[in-house]
Formats: sequence, C-alpha cells, structure tokens
Amino acid sequence: MSGCIFCRIVAGTAPAHRVYEDETLCAFLDIRPIARGHTLVIPKPHATNLDDLDHELGARIFTLGHRLAKALRRSDLGADGANLLLNDGKSAFQTVHHVHLHVVPRRRGDLLTVARGFVLRRGPEPEAAAAAIRTGLDRLDAEERESRA
Ligand code: AMP
Ligand code: ZN
Repeated sequence: MSGCIFCRIVAGTAPAHRVYEDETLCAFLDIRPIARGHTLVIPKPHATNLDDLDHELGARIFTLGHRLAKALRRSDLGADGANLLLNDGKSAFQTVHHVHLHVVPRRRGDLLTVARGFVLRRGPEPEAAAAAIRTGLDRLDAEERESRA
C-alpha cells in the first residue's frame, strides 16, 4: 500500500533504524520510543489489523517479538524484561494501520523513566540503540548454536 508508512519502510522509500529483516518480517526502532530500544515488528505484506493478518504470519511476528525480548536482555541496553503490546484496531488505539507488535525494553526500577518516556517519546542515539539490539540477536544466535553443539 503506497500510502502506508510501514509499507514504505519495507520498500526502503522511508527511513528506519532496522534491527532485523527476513523474507516476511521487518523490525525497526519506533520513531517515538517509550524506552530506548523500543522496537516494532511488522509483517512485510500489508495487513491493516489482526482480522486481515494471515495466522502463520501472526505466529512469526510473535516469535520474532519473543526473540527480540531475549536479545534485549543480552544487549548492552541493560534490559531485564520487556513489554510486548499489539494495538489491534482504532478502538484499541492503533494509529498506524499496518499490523505491528511493540517490544519495549524494561529494567528493574525503571517506572519513572518509562513514565517520562510516555510523555517525551524521544530516544537518544537511535543508530547505537539499533546496533545494540542487533548485537543482542547475534549473542542469542551464538548461545543457541553452543547449546546445540
Ligand atoms: P500504535 O498504532 O498506537 O500501536 O503505534 C504506532 C507506533 O508507530 C507509534 O509508537 C509511533 O511512534 C510509531 N511510528 C509511526 N511512524 C513511524 C515511523 N515512520 N517509523 C517508526 N515508527 C513509527
Ligand atoms: Zn502497510
């Protein structure tokens, strides 16, 4: 969908700080992060909401959100938890109408920082934050390879 900002990110015609990409999914930093490293996972094919989304793709979106929550714990962002959230439909506060799963890094005692993040919605050095998450994913891959060996 040419008018959809997330489709434009997938097509590479709108900018984004990508943390992961494969044939069917893309993950990139939220432009107005609640916390540093706040990431969105989206399906590459346009789906407006869950009613419109292929089940298999829905499962893949969650699997990637799960991996990102694990990667954040292994990153240098200092996360020891995450909020995974999907706003489905206008009544559920969905504002970008291309399905997306929010993955928000959390750390013990960060309530005030997150409360401030809800108001400010700004994150410093997004490229460094994206690089830290990519490193967390690499560490997770290495750990999984080792446990299989
Ligand atoms: P919602 O639809 O309420 O679940 O949230 C949409 C999210 O998309 C918000 O957190 C926005 O900050 C984020 N967003 C909107 N435009 C962009 C963009 N161009 N790049 C990255 N994130 C975006
Ligand atoms: Zn779209």
